[in-house]
Amino acid sequence: GRSLVPYGQGRIRGLDADELGVHGAAMDRLVALGLPVVPGLTMPAGTAASLCERDVAEAAVALVEQLSGRRIGDPARPLLLRLSASAPTEIAGLPPDLACLGIAPARADDLCAVIGGEDALYEVWASTVRMVAEYALDVPVAVLDDAFLDTPGPRARVEVLLSLVAEHGSGPFPDDPAQQLALAARALLGRWASPRARRSRRAQRLPAELAVALHVQALRIGPADHSGYGTAVSRDPETGRLSPQGSFFRGVRRSAPPPHTGEPLDRLAGGTALLEHSLLTLERHLRAPVSVDFEVRDDEISLLAASAQLRPPLRASVCLAADLARDGALGREEAVRRITPAQVQELLHPQLRLTGGEELLVRGLPASPGAATGAVVLSSERALELAADGTRVVLVAAETTPADVPGMLASAAVLTGSGGIASHAAVVARGAGKPAVCGAEGLRVDPAAGTVRFGERVVREGDPVSLDGRTGAVYAGTLSVSVAGPPPELSTLLEWADGVRRLGVRVNADTAAEVETALALGAEGVGLCRTEHQFLGDRLPLIRRVLLAADPTTRDEALVALERAQHEDFTALLTAVGNRPVTVRLLDAPLHEFLPAPGQALDAAEEQRAAALREANPMLGLRGVRLALLHERLYPAQAEALFTAWADVAATGIRPELEVMIPLVSLPEELAAAAGYVRGAADAVAARTGVAVPYRLGTMIETPRAALLAGELAEHAEFFSFGTNDLTQLTYGFSRDDVERQVLASYQERGFLTASPFVRLDPHGVGALVALAAERARSARPGIKLGVCGEHGGDPESIAFCDALGLDYVSCSAHRVPVARMAAAHHAL
Ligand code: PEP
Ligand code: MG
Repeated sequence: GRSLVPYGQGRIRGLDADELGVHGAAMDRLVALGLPVVPGLTMPAGTAASLCERDVAEAAVALVEQLSGRRIGDPARPLLLRLSASAPTEIAGLPPDLACLGIAPARADDLCAVIGGEDALYEVWASTVRMVAEYALDVPVAVLDDAFLDTPGPRARVEVLLSLVAEHGSGPFPDDPAQQLALAARALLGRWASPRARRSRRAQRLPAELAVALHVQALRIGPADHSGYGTAVSRDPETGRLSPQGSFFRGVRRSAPPPHTGEPLDRLAGGTALLEHSLLTLERHLRAPVSVDFEVRDDEISLLAASAQLRPPLRASVCLAADLARDGALGREEAVRRITPAQVQELLHPQLRLTGGEELLVRGLPASPGAATGAVVLSSERALELAADGTRVVLVAAETTPADVPGMLASAAVLTGSGGIASHAAVVARGAGKPAVCGAEGLRVDPAAGTVRFGERVVREGDPVSLDGRTGAVYAGTLSVSVAGPPPELSTLLEWADGVRRLGVRVNADTAAEVETALALGAEGVGLCRTEHQFLGDRLPLIRRVLLAADPTTRDEALVALERAQHEDFTALLTAVGNRPVTVRLLDAPLHEFLPAPGQALDAAEEQRAAALREANPMLGLRGVRLALLHERLYPAQAEALFTAWADVAATGIRPELEVMIPLVSLPEELAAAAGYVRGAADAVAARTGVAVPYRLGTMIETPRAALLAGELAEHAEFFSFGTNDLTQLTYGFSRDDVERQVLASYQERGFLTASPFVRLDPHGVGALVALAAERARSARPGIKLGVCGEHGGDPESIAFCDALGLDYVSCSAHRVPVARMAAAHHAL
């Protein structure tokens, strides 16, 4: 009748998942796709209860016999039945399947002989009898529980259960298959209506009266070496490639997951081709990485269940999106939309290279992706101390508080004993892009003893550990960390993202090596070369000599040396940039970073000159263009080195689009003067080399005054780059160096701020200044080129803000270039 619907017929008869249940709808889909399924039928939710009636159950048995071409009780090609339930959506708390229906004690030995073993069969049979006894034959639970506790082996348990039913039940456990099926249906529906099941539905916010569909499936019995069951997913989680992963088990399918791991798929006698075809077909249909349960009978595979994977591995999602779009099954834009900027970031994080011999100390929550190794430290103070000496440390704490933020930022990774994914440690670590494992139970920190216990194992402060924030695993010792190459499909998706986005993406890079890395990651050019960075380390004396020169002659000599060094730097940089845009910022050297510390000058006279230059607020002092106005040969020297380098590089056929940028301007007069120095340098180089170097001159917008006077500044500038680090510092009056430690931590705790304004561009204050400056600049100089080169240039939300303002590009550190490409595309979609 209408209530017995063979797999594949449901939709044809106009039934949907509400009636067919998730399982019935999935089996219908598999049939429609032409995939092999285990024969069976669905009792739609509206009429499922009629399966408790004997004549309906008889018709169901007959239909499954017909569909499978087997008969219950036939010793040559034996058949049993499995009954299961499914709801309109995937839910927790469904009754367990009842299998081995149709078995009778007199026929059991024949079945065991066919299988070549008895344990699995009796185990499944026992759990079926147990549930039928409780929910359909009214055997008291206490009686059943006692029998289960006292009886060892599964065969003995079935015997005891059958005799308990005979003694305490409202009727015997029948031999007749249809009667067994009717009782099993009553047991499943009884369990579904039980107070416990109703409570579970309430907890899931599902209607208490939710109706389920029932499914009667053929359970075809065969010799264990040619039959079995298994599960498989479509993709390798490590590579993301289409390649069935899973295992299978010989013999009868148990209700609980089997105790052993099963055999690899490549041992399937019939090969994996059909499985692979099924997974591929399903992926195309569901447009998601998929998983299937399958059955093996006579070495042939048929599907028991199939669904989209609930939480597919990231690499699988990336590769599938690219595969589907390449095959035209998905639009390229849709493929791009599927991978978030945060996921791009995650794919670029390093991973531990495991070899199998590692000592696992503990496993906690994967709180922030990435991997790191370092020496254990048990306090923030110790973390800061050791990190200052260049030691890589892992901060281990019961939990962290805002006071620990500086210590966390100085650490390579963080490990906590309590706290979840939203704990302080997890949130701070994710914000800082550091790996973290949180809530590692069994971890005991003893600061007094300087030790941390992982169960029995004791690790001392200073001992090395390795931590994987993606899996939550923490290992003893220093493991090798690989900068995991993302799958090549990510590059494909990013190229498509490039086709979608409007906003340009450049890199903040100071050296030719950094430029090469960034270009490989898809940067379109350099948005900020900080020339003062070319003088860190052993080149520091070059600048120090300019700053501390005793007289003009010494200063000129120092400038010649600086110019020579810069010429070399610029030649390498411009060569690496090629025919792309490159913004070179003239010196912005906060003096405290370049002067000798008190007592470290060469002699007393130099110490005296250094003392005269020391400032109370160096970040607000003689920086940027201000220094250039005091030392008037400084910018001409730099600019001449730059233009000469350009002329040399141009002679080899490379023509970078040169942009020269003036930092920390707040008066139009400053910019006009600096522009004069640069023009003079260009003229000098043209006179000397005969090359009129093409360049644009622009300024950074880093002070609120510069933003407000953008119109006036635009008269002297062909482009602006918003230095949102300094602009944030000066708009809030927050020191960018150390305000996070106390003020921001407390403000985030109080909910005043959801993120540090140094990480996420503040749209209301700093962002409003950017918007106002952009508008004023455009009305003074229509088409003026506008970019952002503060840290915000790599933050997805800030990038969306910049795109909305119609800025031309963002510039960020090399490792964030792919994230920025994806973020810009997502905002454009
Ligand atoms: C800025 O202030 O945003 C900027 C990019 O310059 P720096 O970080 O070098 O001060
Ligand atoms: Mg700045």
